[in-house]
Amino acid sequence: MKEYPRYITPGFPPFDPVQLAKVTEEIVGQGSSRKYTAFYKVGVYGGISTGYTVGCCLRCIFCWVEWSRDFPESHGRFFTPKQVFQNLVFWAKKKKVPRLRISGGEPTLCKDHLLQVLELVNSTNYLFILETNGVLLGHDPDYAKRLDRFSQNLHVRVSLKAGTSEGFQRRTGAVGKFYELPFLAIKNLKQTSLEYHVACMSDPRVMPEKERALMLQKLKEVGYRGYLEEEYCDPYPTCMVRLEKADQDIFNR
Ligand code: SF4
Repeated sequence: MKEYPRYITPGFPPFDPVQLAKVTEEIVGQGSSRKYTAFYKVGVYGGISTGYTVGCCLRCIFCWVEWSRDFPESHGRFFTPKQVFQNLVFWAKKKKVPRLRISGGEPTLCKDHLLQVLELVNSTNYLFILETNGVLLGHDPDYAKRLDRFSQNLHVRVSLKAGTSEGFQRRTGAVGKFYELPFLAIKNLKQTSLEYHVACMSDPRVMPEKERALMLQKLKEVGYRGYLEEEYCDPYPTCMVRLEKADQDIFNR
């Protein structure tokens, strides 16, 4: 990887997302610690305590997260799994919410860190919601197996970004052929006792209807018949800038 990929611009060279995950882990991980910028409670899922982590292995043009995604070296500080757990529980208790999550980046980066956080959550009654783009869960079949031991209080949400390789490359910046990985993640989750569901960015301003149909077909092929959470693209400031930089200004067409 010659240059670290930031936000997408026209002519952006596509990258290998598994390699980007590794390179990003070197920036945002240190031993079993990982970088975070903040902890707080938000209203989604009926209220959830959230750790805002740094770093992702995709570069979605509709991404709403802070610039920590694109410039991980200049954001956040390192937290051990125990510190993350303590912060998550602090906000859950303070705001009286029964759910925890890591957001703001891809939580499956820094596998040991996540597994150690989940180990601590496992001794509580909190539900941990793991929101993932499915790249690493698809690439590494051992990952879903390792998560399986936390099935009592873990729910996985796999978020699909595309239904075709062309759509994947255009909207995530990753080489098109890797669009299979999130579908493989679903296959790997099917082999476990974990609860999970699939979400997708199928907003028609982002994903053409034809591609949505192909995505639904692909979901059938991998045997997924559960709830499909269809996402809508919100005009957050970072999202607006990323769309503009990618020359995909869907809000002003
Ligand atoms: S939308 Fe999610 S997967 Fe895509 S770049 Fe943002 S954090 Fe990563």
